[in-house]
Amino acid sequence: MYDLLIIGAGPGGYVAAIRAAQLGLKAVVVEKDTPGGVCLNWGCIPSKNLIHQAELFHSLTEMEAVGVGVSRDSLDYSAVQGKSREVVKTLTNGVAGLLKRNKVEYINGTASITGKGEVSVDGKQLQTRNILVATGSRPMEVPGFEFDEERVLSSTGILAMTELPESLLILGAGAIGCEFAYVMNSFGVKVTLVEALAHILPTEDFETCAVLDQALRQSGIDVRVKTRAGNLSRGNDGVTATLVAEDGSEETVAAGKALVVFGRSPNTAGLGLVEMGVKLDQRGYVPVGDYCQTSAAGIYAIGDIIRSPALAHVASAEGEMAVEHMAGHKPPRKAVDTQLVPSAIYCEPQVAGFGLREDEALLDGIEVKKSVFNYHGAGKTIAVGKPTGLVKVLCDPQTDELLGAHIVGHNATELLHELLLARSAELLPEDISTMIHAHPTISETLMEAMKGVNGSPIHGY
Ligand SMILES: Cc1cc2nc3c(=O)[nH]c(=O)nc-3n(C[C@H](O)[C@H](O)[C@H](O)COP(=O)(O)OP(=O)(O)OC[C@H]3O[C@@H](n4cnc5c(N)ncnc54)[C@H](O)[C@@H]3O)c2cc1C
Repeated sequence: MYDLLIIGAGPGGYVAAIRAAQLGLKAVVVEKDTPGGVCLNWGCIPSKNLIHQAELFHSLTEMEAVGVGVSRDSLDYSAVQGKSREVVKTLTNGVAGLLKRNKVEYINGTASITGKGEVSVDGKQLQTRNILVATGSRPMEVPGFEFDEERVLSSTGILAMTELPESLLILGAGAIGCEFAYVMNSFGVKVTLVEALAHILPTEDFETCAVLDQALRQSGIDVRVKTRAGNLSRGNDGVTATLVAEDGSEETVAAGKALVVFGRSPNTAGLGLVEMGVKLDQRGYVPVGDYCQTSAAGIYAIGDIIRSPALAHVASAEGEMAVEHMAGHKPPRKAVDTQLVPSAIYCEPQVAGFGLREDEALLDGIEVKKSVFNYHGAGKTIAVGKPTGLVKVLCDPQTDELLGAHIVGHNATELLHELLLARSAELLPEDISTMIHAHPTISETLMEAMKGVNGSPIHGY
C-alpha cells in the first residue's frame, strides 16, 4: 500500500514525488515514457538549447566584424539537434537520479485508475491512499491542420527534425511559435509567422510584444498578425496555405514545411477519471479545488490537465501544494495566484512579465501609474550589444503597490524575478529605486523604471 501514487513524471509529477518523499510519504511515480515529461523531453529544455545554439550561430555576425570568420555553410543541423538531445538526456537522467536519491519508487508503464485507491499499471494492480494525476498535455490538433510530422509539424515534430527546410510557415505566434520563428530564422530558414489575433504573444503586454515584433521583422521574419490561415495542403515539395488578412485580402503562401502551434490539449482520456467520479470540463480539463483536489475524494490533479497557466513552474508549484495538503501540512500557498506567475519567452529579445497588463487595465477601467525605462539607458546593454528593450511597471496610483511588470530585452526572463519578489513581498517602488544596483548591469533598468514611478529616472531619454 502506497501513501501516494503519481501518474506522470513531468515537472508536476516528479517534483510532487520528491516533496512527498521529503514529507515521509511512501510514494511511487508511474511514467509511460521517459522521466521529465514534455518539459524536459519535448518542451522547455530542448527548445531552450536550440535557442542557445541559435544565439551562438547568430553571434557569428559580431565575430565576423572583428575578423573571425566561420563558414555558415558548414552548419550541420543534425549535430545541432544531437546536442539538444544530449542535453535532454543529461537532465532526464538527472530526474531519474533525483527520484532514486529520494527513495521514490519509479515504474515505467501506463497507468489507469481502476477503483477507489486502485491503479492498474500495464495490468498490474497497485493500492494507494492518494492518487495524483499529472499526465500533462499534447499538441492540439485542429481539423484541416492535422500533423503528419513530415510536412506539417507539431512542436514535438520540429524538436525531432534533423534537417532544416528552406522555408517554414509557422501558424500561431504564441510562445512556442515565436521561439521557433527565432530559432529557424537564425539558422537561415525563411520564416513566415502567422497570428490570427491583434499581436504576437497575445497573452503578453502589447508594448513589450511590439518590441519583439519589430525585432523579428528586422531580422527578416515575415510576421503577419490579424491573419487567419486556411486551406493547408501538402505536396511533395512542401505545403501551401491561404492567408486571409483582416481586410479580407487573400494570399497563398508556400513553404517547405508548416509548424502548427495552436495550443495544447489535456491528457485526461482513458485514465478512468470519469468512471471514478472525477468531473471534466467540455475541453477535457479537470476542475480542481484550492489544493488541486478533484471532485473524487483522494484524487488530485495538477499541471497541464487543469486550467492554470500551462507552464512547468506552475505544474511543479501545484505538485508541491497538493502533496502538502494530502500530507496534512499547511501548504505555503492556497491555489496558485495567477497574478504572481511569471511568463517567459526566450527568443532574443526575451519577453517576461507578471500581473496586470496595461491593455487589461484600460479595458477594465483600472487606473494605473505607469513607468517605462528603455534598455538603451543602461550602459551595460550598449556594452554587450543588446540595447533593444524596455521595462514597464504598473503601480496602484493610491498605494504605489506594484500591480504588474513587463520586460522585453536581453535576459528579461532572469531580471523579472527582482520585480516579482518586490510584488510578493509588497515592496514599494522606493524600495527598489533606492537599492544600490551594481554597475554596469542590466538590472539597473529595473531601478530606473522604479525611479520613474514617482519621479524621473537618472538615465531616461
Ligand atoms: C515546445 C515547448 C516549449 C515549452 N517551453 C516552456 C518553457 O520554456 N517554460 C515553461 O514553463 N513551460 C514550457 N512549456 C510547457 C511545459 O512543458 C508544460 O507546461 C509542462 O511540461 C507541464 O508539466 P506536467 O507535469 O503537467 O506534464 P508533462 O510535462 O506533459 O508530463 C506528463 C507526463 O505524464 C506521462 N503520462 C501521460 N499519461 C500517462 C499514463 N496513462 N501513464 C503513465 N504516464 C503517463 C507523459 O508521458 C508525460 O511524461 C513548453 C512546452 C512546449 C511544448
